[in-house]
Amino acid sequence: MPVKLVNIENLSYRYNSIDVLSDISCDIVAGEYIGLVGPNGSGKSTLIKLMLGLLVPTSGSVKLFGHPPAAMKYRERIGYLPQKMNFFNPYFPSTVKEIVSLGLVSKKKFPKRIGDSDEATIDRTLEMLNIADIKDKAIGDLSGGQQQRVFIARALVNDPELLLLDEPTTALDPETRENFFEILRRLNRDKKVTVVLVTHDTGTIGKYASKLLYIDKEIVFFGDFDEFCMSGDMTKFFGPSSQHLICHRHGMNILTVKQRPNND
Ligand code: ADP
Repeated sequence: MPVKLVNIENLSYRYNSIDVLSDISCDIVAGEYIGLVGPNGSGKSTLIKLMLGLLVPTSGSVKLFGHPPAAMKYRERIGYLPQKMNFFNPYFPSTVKEIVSLGLVSKKKFPKRIGDSDEATIDRTLEMLNIADIKDKAIGDLSGGQQQRVFIARALVNDPELLLLDEPTTALDPETRENFFEILRRLNRDKKVTVVLVTHDTGTIGKYASKLLYIDKEIVFFGDFDEFCMSGDMTKFFGPSSQHLICHRHGMNILTVKQRPNND
């Protein structure tokens, strides 16, 4: 029986009197890797916040690990990287190690001390993201890309079951981005971490995600990535480059993409 980590039923959300999400129903099952895509303003970040209990649905319901998500509940089981974490006050007086260690604190009971084994976990996580050499640097002295890796490390350090990442690859250079996607792939494949990744990185997501949740205020498509590739929705979202995308995913094998009939 698949374990539902997130269960969303007939969810709608309004900011002030404006409908942002309408009648969303979907489940996220343990072990999945979901690419959450859609145009700017389509409600992706709002949906992630609703999953986390940071916002309350206008109607419908969200369950996280089988229960309504109260803000900050289950945070020891979740790694969350909000959007735009790299816009950090340059004078904030914390080192890389201190920021990453905050990711471990949620699992701890009082007094929330960082011990030797925690130090080793932090070091391992920093090495995984190639930032061990900047461990003692002040966060404000780092480039946007380095800061982003620090916040990714903070989201990964507590060994989460569920990772919710809101455009994590913004500000990363292409090599670091590929490296990060590989890390996510390994976490998903080897450690069975469930991943929900909001991304505009359309050239890469197809290579990794098992499922695509494509929203534009409502669900346009939710299902297997291959199924999406064969549907008209792919061309609508990814544009004429969709041929390239499908080839990318299938190791450059030439596949025929069924195009949506042009009714214009
Ligand atoms: P996406 O992540 O897909 O770009 P968002 O979830 O951030 O979309 O935003 C969806 C819609 O909600 C947009 O029209 C945005 O302007 C609006 N919105 C987001 N946050 C707020 C807010 N705090 N107050 C009012 N409107 C908001």
